[in-house]
Amino acid sequence: MPSKDTFTAERMARDEYYMRLAMAVRERASCLGSRVGAVLVLQDRVIATGYNGTPMGMKNCDEGGCDRCAHPERYPAGQGYDACICVHAEQNLLLTAARFGIAVRGAVVYTTMQPCFGCLKELLQAEIEAVYYLHPWQPPDHLQEQYERIQKAIPHGIRQVNIPDERAAWAMPRRVTAETGHAAPPVADAE
Ligand SMILES: [Zn+2]
Ligand SMILES: [Zn+2]
Repeated sequence: MPSKDTFTAERMARDEYYMRLAMAVRERASCLGSRVGAVLVLQDRVIATGYNGTPMGMKNCDEGGCDRCAHPERYPAGQGYDACICVHAEQNLLLTAARFGIAVRGAVVYTTMQPCFGCLKELLQAEIEAVYYLHPWQPPDHLQEQYERIQKAIPHGIRQVNIPDERAAWAMPRRVTAETGHAAPPVADAE
């Protein structure tokens, strides 16, 4: 058994703890695009979790439930999310909280991928105070400026948590190069 001092030294930092929880949640994602997990934290407690996939009662994305995810060549990268049946991890966070009547104002979000344009504006409007992400996501060029304006409006901002992701290739099959296992430069792609 480690001594008390050893235990203190080895205690996981809060950011890593919540991001690893988001990574565990991500394991349930069934989307053919990127697999994303997120947790909602209020006053240092997890109040909701979410991962991306088709709505309840619909065929899973990896069983062909979502046309956009099944046929990415038919849709421009990083766009047309309104044509995607998959509900994003961050949307599922807010919707889960809504379903169970949990107030989200002032909470912070840990997500395994930087929120897309749509999710970011929803998080802002839900009065989420800060967003922490693992992998970057970039909006298409014509949305860049508006995306940055929304980012700046998040009270405590949005920033990356740098921890290793052993499951990056699985989580982002369309982004990570198979040979190196390293994440390719951030590109707008299907979430
Ligand atoms: Zn999907
Ligand atoms: Zn999104």
